[in-house]
Amino acid sequence: MSDKFDAIIIGAGVIGAGTAYELAKLGYKTLSVDKLPQAGYGSTSGSCAIIRTYYSTADSCALAYEGWHHWKDWTGYLGNKVNDTDLIEYHNTGCLVAKTELNNHLQKACSAMDAIGCPYEHVNAQEMKTYLPGADARRFFPAKTIDDAAFGEPTGGDIDGAVFFPCGGYVDDPMRSAQNVQTAAEVHGATFKFNTSVTKIVVDNARVAGVELSDGTVVNAPVVINVGGPHSSGINKMAGVSHNMSMSTRALRHEVAHVDSPESFDSVKRIVTSDSDIQVYTRPSSATGKGFLIGSEDPACDDREWVDDPDNYNLEFTPQWKTLVMRLAQRIPDLGIPDTAKGVVALYDVTEDWMPIYDKSDLPGFFMACGTSGNQYKNAPVAGKIMASLVKAADAGQDHDKEPVQFMLEHINYNLSLDAYSRNRKINEESSFSVIG
Ligand SMILES: Cc1cc2nc3c(=O)[nH]c(=O)nc-3n(C[C@H](O)[C@H](O)[C@H](O)COP(=O)(O)OP(=O)(O)OC[C@H]3O[C@@H](n4cnc5c(N)ncnc54)[C@H](O)[C@@H]3O)c2cc1C
Repeated sequence: MSDKFDAIIIGAGVIGAGTAYELAKLGYKTLSVDKLPQAGYGSTSGSCAIIRTYYSTADSCALAYEGWHHWKDWTGYLGNKVNDTDLIEYHNTGCLVAKTELNNHLQKACSAMDAIGCPYEHVNAQEMKTYLPGADARRFFPAKTIDDAAFGEPTGGDIDGAVFFPCGGYVDDPMRSAQNVQTAAEVHGATFKFNTSVTKIVVDNARVAGVELSDGTVVNAPVVINVGGPHSSGINKMAGVSHNMSMSTRALRHEVAHVDSPESFDSVKRIVTSDSDIQVYTRPSSATGKGFLIGSEDPACDDREWVDDPDNYNLEFTPQWKTLVMRLAQRIPDLGIPDTAKGVVALYDVTEDWMPIYDKSDLPGFFMACGTSGNQYKNAPVAGKIMASLVKAADAGQDHDKEPVQFMLEHINYNLSLDAYSRNRKINEESSFSVIG
């Protein structure tokens, strides 16, 4: 391995691999370093890999809709360079999202969809049953913990229907998606090094000069990018850039429950759901298409399990698991509650407003794509392009802090001003302050 590169990317998750791919396409000689054995082995492998377009802000909806185009044409995104047998499958099932007070009956999301030309249709509470056989349409909001005597008690009336977003679905194997992107990046000359940690950020003459690795080697590069997922805050500290940032990142532990779906679901088209009345989201399990993956929408009643050391946290299921299943059982009364917990325990990398940071830093040459807050898998292909555009602009002498880089979402013809993802932005009060973003 050469000891000099144009850019070093710390992390080979789906966003790290995407960043390497885009820089390699631009002709940068890149080195991706990951402490784990394969691309996508970190939090990417635990992802539910749901692709959806509804968010709380117009920019986030636009970014996600642009991202959807890449999943829909995965081989095209990869430049047709990966063997068919190795490719992930993207299932475009569509997403059904309940209208609630919490999401303002999706009025803002629907206006954003109108502005970006993303289709959707309104569904009333009765029609929801064609997607969710036997669904109980009553309201249960607010979500409660299962030791609350009022858990499962309806709170008055039916929910106000839902919106169906046909552009959405899920990826069957998120880890493999990162590996697909690694392969595509390697076609353009990118180098990947696994089982190796970055232990130090090397600074020379007040700018980044490379990294030191766990095997003691120093690798030089004028650009280093932190795409360390839940390790991002430690890497920013290593680079000495955190104290100059308004936003910060923090690892948050989450469980996802995998359960069988009732037989009545065998004959219906399976979809992704987001139900902020019971505050869980679901997607079909990829193995059979019959089960559910159930994730939390972060209700206020739940304790947040912040993790200081992302290499050392509880990997066992806790009562959080059963809570997720029981919350879904309010809407789907036929859902069984299994005795044995199955699913995923993993970490989000969360910012104060649950929106990502795609930015440079105060250390020239040091960049970050982090704070992905449990909701940026879907945006990985675009995030890679965004990071490459930030690096390219800095190389051309543009100071992104003073003159924000403008990024064109080419499939939907939408101009995104990248200061929206600045490390120094004000907290975005339009956010849901949850995984919804
Ligand atoms: C349970 C769960 C469910 C989710 N569901 C969804 C969803 O449905 N839809 C959605 O859009 N998003 C979802 N997300 C979020 C999404 O998965 C993440 O935003 C995305 O995978 C982050 O990718 P990444 O490349 O930034 O980070 P990661 O995949 O975490 O990769 C970071 C890599 O950096 C490496 N690393 C860290 N420190 C070092 C170091 N010092 N030296 C070398 N390597 C290092 C790690 O080993 C790791 O491989 C979910 C996340 C979780 C945890």
